[in-house]
Amino acid sequence: MALKYVTNAVGMLLSNSYILYEESSKEAIIIDAGDDAWRILESIHERRLKVKGIYVTHCHFDHVLAVNDLRESLGCEFYIHPSDLEILTSLREHTRMFLGIEVPDPPKADGYVNEGDFIEVGGYRVSVLHTPGHSPGSVCYHVENILFSGDTLFRASIGRTDGPGGDPRKIVESIHKKLFTLPEDTHVLPGHGPATSIGYEKEHNPFVGRNGIMSRT
Ligand SMILES: [Zn+2]
Ligand SMILES: [Zn+2]
Repeated sequence: MALKYVTNAVGMLLSNSYILYEESSKEAIIIDAGDDAWRILESIHERRLKVKGIYVTHCHFDHVLAVNDLRESLGCEFYIHPSDLEILTSLREHTRMFLGIEVPDPPKADGYVNEGDFIEVGGYRVSVLHTPGHSPGSVCYHVENILFSGDTLFRASIGRTDGPGGDPRKIVESIHKKLFTLPEDTHVLPGHGPATSIGYEKEHNPFVGRNGIMSRT
């Protein structure tokens, strides 16, 4: 049994779409699917993976735009945190208002993930951490020594909180209480940009790290 993942940076905001899978069973889940469904499908077909579901870290357009196409091709279900339902249903209006771009109709959620839930992937248990701040329903997915951090924590940065439902106080609390309590060698795979680790961010993150400007209370 071995856990693996594939990263595809997709769409105009280069959002990381991850495929997490177990090598011998080929069981897989997709974490975030921002655009370019064909590239994600190519990665899946090359490895002959069996996708159980699409899970997103939050419902901004750059993490969900490929969901409809993937769901249609793969016949799998799509899960979100319930607190992002409003962002999902008003995706077109929000994207037009905040970014001035037109996007197609949003996908419909088939089910929800909540704090403390587990997703089974080829014998591994992926746990759901609710980490509000970037959006009300932002979540991170944690398995073994890997954390999919969405737009909550980036390498040397954190997610914006000026969008609908964003809250700077909450994002700092989510990172300090739920992410920085994970082992320092936890490999962090963010929603945009390069990978990092919990230890590196605790030490060096200019916002939430040891000497970060938002760490002072
Ligand atoms: Zn976002
Ligand atoms: Zn994003």
